[in-house]
Amino acid sequence: MSELRVRFAPSPTGHLHIGGARTALFNYLLARKEQGTFVLRIEDTDVARSTQESVDAILDAMKWLGFTCDEGPVYQSERFELYREKIDQLVSEGKAYRCYCRQDELDQKREAAQAKGLKPKYDGTCRDRSDHPENTPYVIRFRSPLSGETSFNDRVKGVITFSNDELDDLIIQRTDGTPTYNFVVVVDDATMNITLVLRGDDHINNTPRQIVMYKALGYPVPDFAHVPMILGSDKTRLSKRHGATSVMAYRDMGYLPEALVNYLVRLGWSHGDDEIFSMEELIEKFSLDNIGRSASVFNPDKLLWLNAHYIKTGHSQRLADLLKEYMQAAGIETSKGPNLVAVVKTLQERARTMVEMAEAARFYFADTVEVDPSAAEKFLTADKKPVLGAVIRHLHLLKQADEVSIGKTFDTIMEETGLKLGKIGPSVRVALTGSTSSPGIYEVISVLGIEESCRRLQRIQESL
Ligand code: GLU
Repeated sequence: MSELRVRFAPSPTGHLHIGGARTALFNYLLARKEQGTFVLRIEDTDVARSTQESVDAILDAMKWLGFTCDEGPVYQSERFELYREKIDQLVSEGKAYRCYCRQDELDQKREAAQAKGLKPKYDGTCRDRSDHPENTPYVIRFRSPLSGETSFNDRVKGVITFSNDELDDLIIQRTDGTPTYNFVVVVDDATMNITLVLRGDDHINNTPRQIVMYKALGYPVPDFAHVPMILGSDKTRLSKRHGATSVMAYRDMGYLPEALVNYLVRLGWSHGDDEIFSMEELIEKFSLDNIGRSASVFNPDKLLWLNAHYIKTGHSQRLADLLKEYMQAAGIETSKGPNLVAVVKTLQERARTMVEMAEAARFYFADTVEVDPSAAEKFLTADKKPVLGAVIRHLHLLKQADEVSIGKTFDTIMEETGLKLGKIGPSVRVALTGSTSSPGIYEVISVLGIEESCRRLQRIQESL
């Protein structure tokens, strides 16, 4: 084990989003690569907005993506005592103070500052106050340095410097006694011995605020790496307007976790022109040095392309297990009917998502195939009755339903009828599958079996 300790620290106020999943992935990969420790911390101090449902959704998504943690989940809500202790410490050392300003007063001051074109900032009214008015609600504010600079060498973005007069006297404890994000994140990262904080660059402005608190609490400051945002196609921050943003929505849409992982890693990280990486390759190749400094754009077509790749090359037994679930979700009964592995093998080349595969597999499990009317009009005309009859007769003679034997049977049928496969095949296809697009008819017959294929052909033939 190396010294590296990283963490993923989601707030359970919704699903795990694409951006969060990418942050989790980068942390996970780095921990695995350097044989460090990956900690999962649930940031649920905002009791009003955190829900158990969101916690479960995040844990499910992490599991689905395969990001196993070495420690955690640790819940901030179970650590309030520690935070209280640290706040008391800061107050007793004069590094934090009680602020009795009322919200309406603060709002007024903020508006006045804004009207003058000034950056709104706490004006320090209670900074040096020594009285303790009774029965008056108060918050606790951190006493920020008023001058000087706070600087850090971001592992992605390079040196970043903030002037301390930009830092506010942040509230670290609310009137209800609960601690706030910028404070608890410092206490947690320090007490969990996190050596590298890798997170989205929407937290860059928080970093100097957190650094001054590390110093005030006497903690060593970890390294920071801020990864650029993910944008939608219109170059605004990725949001629902651009389509699904929750990880599990992609599972529901039929994406494989390895496709999503492979896609996510390329949002901001690169390794030459390589596009396809297994998890093992990622663990070997991932490094902070190849994370770009600019935002990346979410491209659903590329994700779809990767998904098609992973379906095409996937293990058919595993895909069959998945297909069963997707078919169930689509209301298709698979307990009777052909073998699912055989079904998958006929569809792996064609389906881009598991939802597409489930739809494409529907005909295999139909009691009575629903025939597309325009396909029927074209290919199931009365003049096809004799040739379908010949197909049924010859198929019945077959002992084995492998594709080679079926192919030979069709050679015989062509010879006997004097028709080319182009004249026979489409009608057989529509009769068996209900549509003009399906896997090859030899494959279909082989998967359905001779008896079921003949039953389907017969039903159609009799109706012509
Ligand atoms: N809980 C924060 C969030 O979900 C992340 C905090 C951090 O990584 O420092 O945005």
